[in-house]
Amino acid sequence: MNAALLRELVADVGASHVLTGADCARYETDERQLFHGRAMAVLRPGNVAEVSAVVTRCAAHGVGVVPQGGNTGYCGGATVDASGRQVVVSLERLNRVLAVDPVGHTLTVEAGVVLADAQAAAAAAGRLLPLAMGSQGSCQIGGNLATNAGGLAVLKYGTARDLTLGLQAVLPDGRVLERLTALRKDNTGYDLKQLFIGAEGTLGIITAAVLKLFPGGARHCAWAIVPKAADAVAVLARLRAATDDGVSSFEYMAGEALALVAEALPALRQPLAGAHHVLVEVLGEQGSERLAAILESLVADGLVTDAVVAQNEAQRQAFWRVRESIPAAEKALGGSVKHDISVPLNDIARYAEDATRAILAGWPGARLSLYGHVGDGNLHCNVLAPAATDPAAFRRDAGGAISDALHALAHRYAGSFSAEHGVGQLKRGLLARYGDPVAVALMRQVKAALDPRDLMNPGKLLPAVEAPQP
Ligand SMILES: Cc1cc2nc3c(=O)[nH]c(=O)nc-3n(C[C@H](O)[C@H](O)[C@H](O)COP(=O)(O)OP(=O)(O)OC[C@H]3O[C@@H](n4cnc5c(N)ncnc54)[C@H](O)[C@@H]3O)c2cc1C
Repeated sequence: MNAALLRELVADVGASHVLTGADCARYETDERQLFHGRAMAVLRPGNVAEVSAVVTRCAAHGVGVVPQGGNTGYCGGATVDASGRQVVVSLERLNRVLAVDPVGHTLTVEAGVVLADAQAAAAAAGRLLPLAMGSQGSCQIGGNLATNAGGLAVLKYGTARDLTLGLQAVLPDGRVLERLTALRKDNTGYDLKQLFIGAEGTLGIITAAVLKLFPGGARHCAWAIVPKAADAVAVLARLRAATDDGVSSFEYMAGEALALVAEALPALRQPLAGAHHVLVEVLGEQGSERLAAILESLVADGLVTDAVVAQNEAQRQAFWRVRESIPAAEKALGGSVKHDISVPLNDIARYAEDATRAILAGWPGARLSLYGHVGDGNLHCNVLAPAATDPAAFRRDAGGAISDALHALAHRYAGSFSAEHGVGQLKRGLLARYGDPVAVALMRQVKAALDPRDLMNPGKLLPAVEAPQP
């Protein structure tokens, strides 16, 4: 405990926004309960000047700063270490929508705005913020940008990076980078905002951003059964061509993943039964009749065996609820060994087959939960304990080897071990193993240039530096 620093921080943000002791508990553990730390304090600044002030104070005292948004991240990136010498800077009070411009199609928000609130602000102005994901009721725009979040509409609109026009960030020395621009064209040197997107808080704290909006409009949703996983990719290609590239979401769910939902949440009605499911959403005025006609042609060609089109908004949301319940079902059944891989789209079905074979050969009886944003080549290939095995013991004893097998397989397919969840604390070793050494060295150089004393989210993202051999 650094009493002098705490007194200064209280002067900066007020006593009620400097939490210590038991009040820090909910900020000290990650969403998946994989990481537990102990904070010197949790700071809750209320504006960019206060963020700058607390970062400047911490830098003067050589104290590490861990930025935290909604704390929904899957890799422990927002969790302090156990030393009691780091502080959490929570962005939750920077929660103002600063501007909605329906003509320029932009939304300007502070970093602590919850994603669902940002979507609602856009919708109230008749515009669409397409960033969407299962955690949108809690995750924040700053966290979304810091992890370059993907989600449900990447196929059409790209990741958080593609949706960002400008941002404001507090650097590790407390200076404020003012790039809160709504310009779509600005070729004046390095695009510095990109440094902070996907940096997981290791280069600075994002305090506000300007995001792209799109015209709102009708969304049409269908649930379909395909004969085999490979047909999902062919169906996607046909749908894109037939809808003037109007497909905004294309999700795959294996029957086993939905069996977990049926077991954990029996009251949730599932639209169709089958071994391979897809959930598709198409934008535009073409209407659900048009979507139904396209699906009929896919049935005629043997690429789809059954399909149902949502007839109204309530049904559309009901379809999505089933898809988004998969993580909750896994959690209710004791938790899973989670993966977030991506491979080139053409290889995704072969990856799924190889992964299934490898897991069932190595861990007979293990339950697989294969699903994901397959339109982006992104599969969540999660593994649950066999029925009679204690889930926690299974994760502890088998988790490492299972992950090694699935990540090695993704690497063989020229894929990524982290499609959208980032690196955090959990996957630093994988970056060391699979990252291009030159790329990792460049990342270290960027980090050293911006944060030479390693005070901004230390111990995250970059692989640990090995001690020199004696
Ligand atoms: C049910 C569920 C579904 C999910 N679905 C998806 C999905 O479809 N796609 C997807 O990409 N992710 C998904 N996630 C993961 C997670 O929600 C996202 O990574 C999200 O973007 C994290 O935002 P957050 O505000 O919770 O960030 P946090 O968890 O608080 O932080 C994540 C990282 O960002 C840093 N950070 C946070 N705020 C800032 C800031 N203002 N400035 C600088 N650094 C900051 C933290 O230090 C940490 O390294 C899901 C999670 C859950 C629980």
